[in-house]
Amino acid sequence: MPGIITQNIDNLHQLSGFTAKDVVELHGNTTYAACLDCGKRYELDWVKQSMAQSGGRCPECTVCDGYIKTATVSFGQAMPEAAMRRAQDLTESCDLFLAIGSSLVVWPAAGFPLAAQRNGARLVIINREATEFDEIADLVVHDDIGAALSPFITH
Ligand SMILES: [Zn+2]
Repeated sequence: MPGIITQNIDNLHQLSGFTAKDVVELHGNTTYAACLDCGKRYELDWVKQSMAQSGGRCPECTVCDGYIKTATVSFGQAMPEAAMRRAQDLTESCDLFLAIGSSLVVWPAAGFPLAAQRNGARLVIINREATEFDEIADLVVHDDIGAALSPFITH
């Protein structure tokens, strides 16, 4: 089953046509909000409306009274458990891992290509600049990712 592990927080992959359930967001998503305690999702419009009605006070979670903030993972916050587990599962079950447009220096995300290869998957790296993992990859393409991938896209 294909899946996308991403550090993007801006719905890039969803907007490009992938179903949301196939996108694993390691750093969360900035296009909606969530409760810091129970994880309940809130739309930004609702948050803005509540703030306007309460003189600028940020609303509390309607389930657990927790704090609500954009669903991104901020510096100092723990990595999201469910997303990390899902990324791990995808990594361990894939037979081809494409690392696309990543310098592969930001951990823990950088660990996934390594783990996939250790598990027997082929590793392909497509990035404009060299990465530390080029030496161990099965195939390395140093090019603009748009240029490298456009032949595979049907219009
Ligand atoms: Zn809550």
